[in-house]
Amino acid sequence: MGPHEMPFSDITIEFDCATCGPKIGFALFDVAREYERMRYSGPTESDDVEIDVSSAASIAIYCSKVCRDQGRPVVMSEMRICPSIQPPSFGPVEVCARCAGPVDMSDWHLAILESDTNTTALPFKPVEVEYIAVICRTCAPISTFRLKKRGV
Ligand SMILES: [Zn+2]
Ligand SMILES: [Zn+2]
Repeated sequence: MGPHEMPFSDITIEFDCATCGPKIGFALFDVAREYERMRYSGPTESDDVEIDVSSAASIAIYCSKVCRDQGRPVVMSEMRICPSIQPPSFGPVEVCARCAGPVDMSDWHLAILESDTNTTALPFKPVEVEYIAVICRTCAPISTFRLKKRGV
């Protein structure tokens, strides 16, 4: 444990759960989107993949996995993610969750993912991350993403 990882058991955070409203809690369960690309250092095994991440942002925050399970279909529909398309693996080519076309995972693309964050220790770190979808550059061009992120 490093100097910035002291346990802080009395931390509580206030937030709005997207399913059940205002909450004070110790853990966050969110659905986020980020631009990322995979860098394959060897054969395309997941162990040999490094991920560059840019412009990460939460789409929705929940107080529990139950609330996230309830809210997920709403987020997926807002993000126009087709529920019948399987969640992606680590490439090198995965399936776009909007158009079912190919996503070149080594090039920048939009990824939708869920993370569980334990807030009882600083710094807050996701303890578990799971990918829901990747979206191709045609469906989510970088310029569109950046404009949206600024709230334009
Ligand atoms: Zn909730
Ligand atoms: Zn697409």
